[in-house]
Amino acid sequence: MHTRRDFIQKLTGSLIALQISPALVTAGCNNIIVPYDGPLLRVAIIGLGSYGTRVAEAMKDCKKAKLVGVISGTPSKIKDWQAKYNIPEKNCYNYENFDQLKNNPDIDVVYVITPNALHKDQVIRVAKAGKHVISEKPMSINAKDGQEMIDACKKAHVKLLVGYRMHFEPKTLEIIRMRKVGELGKVLFFQGLCGFTIGDPTQWRLNKQLSGGGSMMDIGIYAINGARYMIGEDPIWVTAQETKNNPEKFKEGVDETIQFQFGFPGGAVASCLSTYSMNNLDRFFLNGEKGYAELYPSTGYGPIQGRTSKGELTQPHVTHQTVQMDEMAGIILEGKQPVVPVDGEEALKDLKIIDAIYEAVKTGKKVDLKL
Ligand code: NDP
Repeated sequence: MHTRRDFIQKLTGSLIALQISPALVTAGCNNIIVPYDGPLLRVAIIGLGSYGTRVAEAMKDCKKAKLVGVISGTPSKIKDWQAKYNIPEKNCYNYENFDQLKNNPDIDVVYVITPNALHKDQVIRVAKAGKHVISEKPMSINAKDGQEMIDACKKAHVKLLVGYRMHFEPKTLEIIRMRKVGELGKVLFFQGLCGFTIGDPTQWRLNKQLSGGGSMMDIGIYAINGARYMIGEDPIWVTAQETKNNPEKFKEGVDETIQFQFGFPGGAVASCLSTYSMNNLDRFFLNGEKGYAELYPSTGYGPIQGRTSKGELTQPHVTHQTVQMDEMAGIILEGKQPVVPVDGEEALKDLKIIDAIYEAVKTGKKVDLKL
């Protein structure tokens, strides 16, 4: 009689014999482990900083995506990553020579995880090298640059995706499902509170040349994007007000705190806050005629927690970046359609809204949006 242990031992033996990478999936309710034998997305990361490291670690558990290359300005990091992730020398580049990616058939996609203002040129260079590209958020520092990135990727016939990891998060997706099937009734209000107290005043996030702005570019974008996927519409107007208590730390063009409001075509309104000067601000609240949904925390690395008028949300915690990269492999390699888009056009809408928020702050006027 064949036992489950025999089966798994045989399976492991076959895997070794076949030299298949140990990408295993648990199938069905009997926890039978089966190998994943579909296509593998081979990824290189540009910018081996704090978030790049998080993505690389999370990718160890991916079954459809694998870290195979690096692009960095710091030779010592390249050596460390080569050793840690078994990256061959031929897949290592610096900022001067990464256009040579065009001659490397072993890399499918490059994930840009550098300071915001660098995304545009790097994404365009990657596209010109004929590789698909994932950009971190914000895709760029204004809508004009974002459009140029989209155009360059279209011209090069490569896909452009943006690291919107919440678009794959199970509790977030459950609220979107509830709203779509009408369990919340007509949605009338969204509140998005996003912020943290930022430290070191010399970091790139507080340098307009590299960040393109302040808290809005970095963390406020979660409330903007969240308002859109929670309500399921794009806003048609925005108003915004800035508060700056520390002009020493938050220099000209680097916003400290902005409150902003949206109006939506279906009649809903949103009220949001983006700040670099308050902790414990990571909360979404969605209110409809038949019910509500709340996430707190709503966009941190998790576990995301929340409840709706039907009770606690119990979907499992997942490592966001692992799921994101597996899902993006499906999008790039198999043309899979995500529930909420993660493409350049989706990111461009957020950039148009950010431009409009800065304009509303400057003019004190309501700004109409056409997304
Ligand atoms: P870090 O400062 O930790 O890392 C950025 C890396 O970019 C550096 O380590 C460096 O890597 C490279 N780099 C190239 N040029 C410069 C430069 N002039 N100044 C500083 N670094 C440079 O930043 P994060 O990793 O926190 O953020 C990177 C991007 O990821 C941002 O766009 C941010 O918005 C986004 N992000 C997204 C998150 C999400 O949850 N989706 C979370 C956190 C960040 P090297 O030495 O290898 O060249």
